[in-house]
Amino acid sequence: MTAQIIDGKALAEKVRGRIAEDVAALKARGVTPGLAVVLVGDDPASQVYVKNKVAACANVGMNSVMHRLPASTSEAELLALVDQLNADKTIHGILVQFPVPKQISQEHVIARISPDKDVDGLHADSAGALMIGTPKFVSCTPLGCMEMLKEIGMQDLRGKHAVVIGRSNLVGKPIAMLLLHANATVTICHSGTKDLPSITRQADVLIAAVGKALFIKAEMVKNGAVVIDVGINRLPESSGGRLVGDVDFDGVKAVAGYITPVPGGVGPMTITMLLQNTLLAARMALR
Ligand code: NAP
Repeated sequence: MTAQIIDGKALAEKVRGRIAEDVAALKARGVTPGLAVVLVGDDPASQVYVKNKVAACANVGMNSVMHRLPASTSEAELLALVDQLNADKTIHGILVQFPVPKQISQEHVIARISPDKDVDGLHADSAGALMIGTPKFVSCTPLGCMEMLKEIGMQDLRGKHAVVIGRSNLVGKPIAMLLLHANATVTICHSGTKDLPSITRQADVLIAAVGKALFIKAEMVKNGAVVIDVGINRLPESSGGRLVGDVDFDGVKAVAGYITPVPGGVGPMTITMLLQNTLLAARMALR
């Protein structure tokens, strides 16, 4: 079997087209969705991520405001900016790019963002709402993964076993919850899991969010499984220096039914879901 590729770039284009139409309709009612992006320090990967997010906003007609703060910024200074953005009526979504420098507590920053502007879905209110089945803002990467499953007709996962590798608040936990709400039987694996391959081989849907290059090999995957690769890892220069996922794409595509590539898979969908959440925040502000 050779897996069908779920093209995240093409799907992202399609969804962004719909978002652009909705943004235009909202503008006609006098509201332009606005996203504030905050970057503290000069981490090169973070700089690329925020640049892409700002460009994506412009492409769908949204406003974005970029705040660049030096690496020496104190927690109090960053929280003061968050307060200012919370109060700004032209800003509907706030995204603080993580990681932040070590003198700042990520938890304090997340807690300070207004739950009404929490387009990254990391606030305890957002996580709790997802848990009890009344989600408002859900973390963008898990939402993007679910859109990809929907695209291949797998919106209802009744009778399917979904295995998630990773339990972060950003990816693993929220995707597990979304899969559960889609009626899958869900197993969450992590670094303490014993005999991981025996579990991943049971997966009809396998989500890899480990952060380890080429970690999932063909022999860990059931024939015909849907494999969603969340990982973004750069190989060492000695191995070519290219970006790869957590899944050994070339090996696994010979076994899986569907597979997402890296790059061009989950990444573009993550940014698209950030736009969708910002649109939702702007709509909610109208009510
Ligand atoms: P993270 O916070 O580092 O979490 C990684 C998870 O993998 C942890 O739960 C960890 O278990 C688990 N793990 C590590 N080694 C393992 C092993 N040998 N066996 C089983 N589980 C293991 O990372 P994250 O923020 O969730 O991100 C995961 C990956 O997705 C990263 O590569 C990141 O760059 C990427 N990512 C991509 C996007 C995108 O847009 N495509 C967005 C976000 C993240 P413990 O909890 O036990 O430590």
